[in-house]
Amino acid sequence: MDPDELIALDREHVWHPYAPMPATQRPLVVSSASGVRLRLADGGELVDGMSSWWAAIHGYAHPALDAAVREQVGRMSHVMFGGLTHEPAVRLARTLVDITPGPLRHVFFCDSGSVSVEVAIKMCLQYHRSLGRPAKRRMLTWRGGYHGDTFHPMSVTDPDGGMHSLWRGVLPEQLFVPMPPVEYDPAYVAELDETLRRHRDEVAGIIVEPVVQGAGGMRFHSPRYLNALRELADEHDVLLVFDEIATGFGRTGALFAADHAGVTPDVMCIGKALTGGYLSMGATLCVPRVAQGISRGETPVLAHGPTFMGNPLAAAVANASIELLLSGDWAGTVTGIEAGLIHGLAPARGRAGVLDVRVLGAIGVVQLDHDVDMAAATKAAVEHGVWLRPFRDLVYTMPPYITADDDLERICAAVLAAAEVA
Ligand SMILES: *Cc1c(COP(=O)(O)O)cnc(C)c1O
Repeated sequence: MDPDELIALDREHVWHPYAPMPATQRPLVVSSASGVRLRLADGGELVDGMSSWWAAIHGYAHPALDAAVREQVGRMSHVMFGGLTHEPAVRLARTLVDITPGPLRHVFFCDSGSVSVEVAIKMCLQYHRSLGRPAKRRMLTWRGGYHGDTFHPMSVTDPDGGMHSLWRGVLPEQLFVPMPPVEYDPAYVAELDETLRRHRDEVAGIIVEPVVQGAGGMRFHSPRYLNALRELADEHDVLLVFDEIATGFGRTGALFAADHAGVTPDVMCIGKALTGGYLSMGATLCVPRVAQGISRGETPVLAHGPTFMGNPLAAAVANASIELLLSGDWAGTVTGIEAGLIHGLAPARGRAGVLDVRVLGAIGVVQLDHDVDMAAATKAAVEHGVWLRPFRDLVYTMPPYITADDDLERICAAVLAAAEVA
């Protein structure tokens, strides 16, 4: 299709994320991608600084992942999961149990990150219901979070960032405490404790993004908060949920962010990089106590079952992606990217308009003291041959792990340029 015709049809018919209809911004047309490069229909090429929203950790068209998909397509692309099972899903479940914190032993597969959060919240509520405590039906979280775009995930997303005012009367009203300070602060933990004490009869679970709050503002906090949350959850008889959809699979320098603190949540959500960015899949893991609690209820089943649950194609490529990750020195690679980002983004520090520069693992962030001019910032990055998607007051990157040093330098230069004009 001619690119101009494609753009015209796109504008006429297709919604894009968080966009009006018709769109006000012209998207770039990508015709193919390999390695860290997106090939554009107009012949240009961009180094991807976004890993397609945290997902494409091994880059694009990776031979091992392509082969896994091809091999699985030849057997079966999908079969229903009710009453049937198959090796790709069972193998994946076993691997996930092995690589996540020890006590997580049961896996619920679903189609996306948001749905895995829905399932996690359903697990918390159903667990308490099954034990005869239906009043425990609210979730507690800290501000600044992001947990997805369907309704329950939105209800635990930051009230301002998640546009709760638009949804007043629709969203379940959850309990919010302030955003966690960067450094560990016992006074903050005391406040958490106090809030839980006051609401323990109605709180079913605590849900947070561990160590890195992603789409809610790219903020980092001390892993010691995870230890504190674990203690408070036990003390107040609430379940602890870690949303590792963005942080999982090495991104923060630990395989899972929970590993920074050696803490096991009762429930864990994963997604995004699970399939190496090839197909949409999420999973919710839980400890036996949660599964056993739910099984003891009047309705002893976890009442959820997506049509594409356990999709064999997605499971096969997830197996290949995790195998690839673990067979290499992912920790050394992420540490190398971290060093490159620290070095490459340092010049932004102290510049006019720059509030903060921060790096953790393969995540690099330049925070401005004003909202970015997205069109200008994107254009500046593209002129440097790099794809970035700044938002709010942030110009940031989380490159694929296969990014070579010279491409990483180019990404950093593009972040600086984008932050300059934003
Ligand atoms: C992206 C994200 C989600 C939502 O995942 P989708 O696959 O987009 O539904 C939930 N939680 C976190 C932390 C995320 O980064």
